[in-house]
Amino acid sequence: MAIPKTRRARYGTSGTCLDRRQPQRRRSRFHSFAVKIPILDLKPATEELRPELNEAFARVMASGHFLLGPELEAFEREYAQSTGASHCVGVANGLEALQLVLMAWGVGPGDEVIVPSNGYIATWLAATHVGATIVPCEPDPLTYNLDPAKLPALITPRTKVILPIHLYGQTVDMDGINAVARPRGIKVLEDGAQSHGARLRDRQSGNLGDAAGISFYPSKNLGALADGGAVLTNDAPLADQIRQLRNYGSKVRYQNEQLGLNSRLSELQAAFLRVKLPYLAAWNARRSGLARHYLKNLSGIDGLTLPAVPAWAEPVWHLFVVRTTRRDALRDFLTARGIGTQIHYPIPPHLSGAYHHLGWKPGDFPLAETLAAEVLSLPIGPHVAPGDVDEVCRAVREFFGRG
Ligand SMILES: *Cc1c(COP(=O)(O)O)cnc(C)c1O
Repeated sequence: MAIPKTRRARYGTSGTCLDRRQPQRRRSRFHSFAVKIPILDLKPATEELRPELNEAFARVMASGHFLLGPELEAFEREYAQSTGASHCVGVANGLEALQLVLMAWGVGPGDEVIVPSNGYIATWLAATHVGATIVPCEPDPLTYNLDPAKLPALITPRTKVILPIHLYGQTVDMDGINAVARPRGIKVLEDGAQSHGARLRDRQSGNLGDAAGISFYPSKNLGALADGGAVLTNDAPLADQIRQLRNYGSKVRYQNEQLGLNSRLSELQAAFLRVKLPYLAAWNARRSGLARHYLKNLSGIDGLTLPAVPAWAEPVWHLFVVRTTRRDALRDFLTARGIGTQIHYPIPPHLSGAYHHLGWKPGDFPLAETLAAEVLSLPIGPHVAPGDVDEVCRAVREFFGRG
């Protein structure tokens, strides 16, 4: 469903959920240009499903059951089934999904967790919050995903977990990672926050390692109407333990067996997610259609690198990320034409203020730093019109045509 341009212009991108992830953008001379094609607009998705979402809302209100009830149980069953994993445990958000798995595995001080040097900081924070030591691994320069060939040099007797991200919606080379991890008894935890429905040959993201942490943050491919998350695994005792840990370490009320968190997925959000789950495949297909459009219309531009998709990967295009050394100029050019863009992510975790105390410097992870300086996300989503992608492509071509 296309929404009229005038409405888009009025709402712009302000108030969209990605904003909190971006540093304050410097005021450019284009600041006052109206946004015609926002990088992200969640309203049409909710609009398309409004009657069903209202029905779910009314059902939960009437039930008087707001936490750990039938909607959560049903969603956990339905979501696990859709991914092929045997168990799903709903939790409060994606960060805690990852953290809870690390807690359940007993990962803590003195243990090392290998994470991508590029990507979103939440992945790092999960390891940091359990007290583990972060060991960053540089990405494959073509896919921007963790490079299994670089793992052996980073492994020590203290390595407990490899925690790759399926970045931008494309699965990492999980066969390569498992081949390094399995013989050494190292666990693999997938960060599946950006890859709902993505496939690696015949298997789905979330069902490729020992466990996966999933986010239902509103802008994800499967997004709730607030925070939400889940753990997926084929390991029944692990699922059981996460069920305790998300609820104060308790299975039987007031019997607290472990040092748990309060990290529950609410009945209301579970009910909303049950409405949205059946649309995930179709909405992912719309994203793929737009990505094909971009790949065709933007091919052969000197100075512009398009996303690379290995033959075995079937991405779900959470983001469409291009790369150029002229990134900031391209971004300003598109902004002036009313085209919204974002940078995922402008500061690699090792150089963020949060990790200042660890003493990393510019140059420590050069690939992550280059990507942070060169990547740009173009508008994509189930409610972006193909005509809008045409317009973005024309503008990008015009920019590079000018030299
Ligand atoms: C969104 C995201 C998270 C965190 O999810 P929240 O639900 O916001 O806590 C973790 N990792 C990656 C790669 C993400 O994109």
